[in-house]
Amino acid sequence: MSVETIVIVGAGQAGASAILELRGNQYAGNIILIGDETHLPYERPPLSKDVILRPEETKIEILSEEKLAELGVTTIRGNGVSKINAEAHTVELQNGEVIAYDKLLLATGGAARRLPNFDALGKHVYTLRNLEDSQALVPVLQAGRRIILIGGGVIGLELASSARFKDCQVTVIEMGPMVMGRSSPLILSEFLLQQQLLAGVDVRLSTQIADCKLDGEEIVVTLEGGEELRADAVIYGIGIIPNAQLAVEAGLDADFAVHVNENCQTSNPDIYAAGDVASQLRECGNHRRVETWENANLQAGIFARHVMGVEHPVANPAWFWTDQLDINYQFVGDMSAAEWHVRGEMDAAKRSESSFVLFGVTDGVIVGGITVNSAKDMRHLKKLIAKQAAFEADKYLDVSQDLRKLVK
Ligand code: NAP
Repeated sequence: MSVETIVIVGAGQAGASAILELRGNQYAGNIILIGDETHLPYERPPLSKDVILRPEETKIEILSEEKLAELGVTTIRGNGVSKINAEAHTVELQNGEVIAYDKLLLATGGAARRLPNFDALGKHVYTLRNLEDSQALVPVLQAGRRIILIGGGVIGLELASSARFKDCQVTVIEMGPMVMGRSSPLILSEFLLQQQLLAGVDVRLSTQIADCKLDGEEIVVTLEGGEELRADAVIYGIGIIPNAQLAVEAGLDADFAVHVNENCQTSNPDIYAAGDVASQLRECGNHRRVETWENANLQAGIFARHVMGVEHPVANPAWFWTDQLDINYQFVGDMSAAEWHVRGEMDAAKRSESSFVLFGVTDGVIVGGITVNSAKDMRHLKKLIAKQAAFEADKYLDVSQDLRKLVK
């Protein structure tokens, strides 16, 4: 069957990247991009940082109208897909229009996990997932305002950093025993925590919320144990729920997310999924979902190459980054490594002057790495992990030795 029309549902990072990958792999058929947001595809990483701090000068567009026209893409905005008819190879839009596809990509991402008791307050409660959410925070994060952030994950810490740059009084309430506990090893989590404390953020770990209410224009958050915290606004970032409903209703294999194979194909070979919504089969036999910007691009590439019958290159170890309080952190590979070793000086008091590298080692092999204000070393870590290099402390921890030369 010739692939005349590819429909991409979801105009985010994975959707945009799929377009570039399809055209980059010489796909000459029709591409229809369908998004329920009214915007053209845009970058999400700046939403918690530059869009709030420098709204005027921050450009987040991934594909402009002109670029999409040049790539021969038909875009449908503000009119999402309401139903997939897999047998008929069609999708139905919210306005009832029906569009036929030969191959379909679900790049629907995820939605912020909700806290209904906070939403029910009706005002002064925010979350962050899309551009409007981010723009809504600009007038909220004003000097002197008391801001409670619920969730000490990436959103919580990046927003805490932005709020401190805006001179807000910030409290972070995290349920778990460490910040960024889902994505960072303890050694770095402790460093991240120290940075927030040094910046004046009040971080409450292992803390549960018992109640919340409005008292005039204030929000009162009661912690288990009875302490009451008062704030001008609450912002929560407690993870995402994959937008898998369409796939579930179409009868595709899915649990919390859509199951895909190594080619990003769902249980229907003409329907693919990529990005936050996809849970991909790994070599170990389990499905795993990766919520990163890089993974959205990576899986979009896998989809495009599979449609075009092109072989996939060997994937790099997983990578992501976060910017907090003028410190750039980059993570690669396995964050559950058995031991972590520091190259350089890991002194929290140096704050944004910090610069060091962490090696994650399991059974004597380098399996993970973190750079802190040392982005130039990331490509060396990637190489060491990819070639499963044996960890040699005297070599890799000696800062007088050039990492670039050691990697060769
Ligand atoms: P996240 O990184 O998963 O962190 C959520 C945190 O909230 C977890 O530490 C979680 O603790 C905690 N939590 C959950 N329920 C809570 C509650 N009721 N009270 C207090 N704490 C609670 O998710 P996120 O920060 O919301 O980010 C959402 C998505 O955006 C993720 O996909 C993330 O990767 C992405 N994102 C990425 C970046 C980046 O890569 N730089 C930046 C921003 C956002 P437990 O783990 O104990 O449940």
